[in-house]
Amino acid sequence: MEDSTPSTVNLQPSTIWDALASVPDPEIPVVSITDMGMVRDVTVGDAGRVTVTFTPTFSGCPALHVIRESIEQAVRDLGVTDVEVRSTLTPPWTTDWINDDARERLRQYGIAPPAPTGEGQLIQLDAEPTRCPRCGSLNVRMTASFGPTLCKRMYVCDTCREPFEGFKSV
Ligand SMILES: [Zn+2]
Repeated sequence: MEDSTPSTVNLQPSTIWDALASVPDPEIPVVSITDMGMVRDVTVGDAGRVTVTFTPTFSGCPALHVIRESIEQAVRDLGVTDVEVRSTLTPPWTTDWINDDARERLRQYGIAPPAPTGEGQLIQLDAEPTRCPRCGSLNVRMTASFGPTLCKRMYVCDTCREPFEGFKSV
């Protein structure tokens, strides 16, 4: 019999959050999964069991299993052996969970950050003020509802004539 002493690593949830902050979004490597607001909860149980709950950005995103494995690996890299990764769709992910830092990096990466959703949305008529990430013009047209993934839309800027990807606000 092996003497199986339970892991004595005394991990704080904040340490795990820090580790998850270095897990890149599988589709947009300039931002992390925590920047995108995907990680909803981290708990450390009595026996050292770590449970991470995340909400995928879009249920149609093909990267779900990649995110799950990346989370598990990041926690294991901290010396944790007992990891559970759960996904939840309740409440559904919203682009409002993307932090300001990530919005700026999305812009620099050439992806128009999502317009804020929220209360104002109800009184706007299809108003989704997407700006061209290159020249800042609001004079843009959507060319396709879906970009390369379900998460993004394709636009073209009528000012600088450049096509670009934009986030669908949800
Ligand atoms: Zn432009």
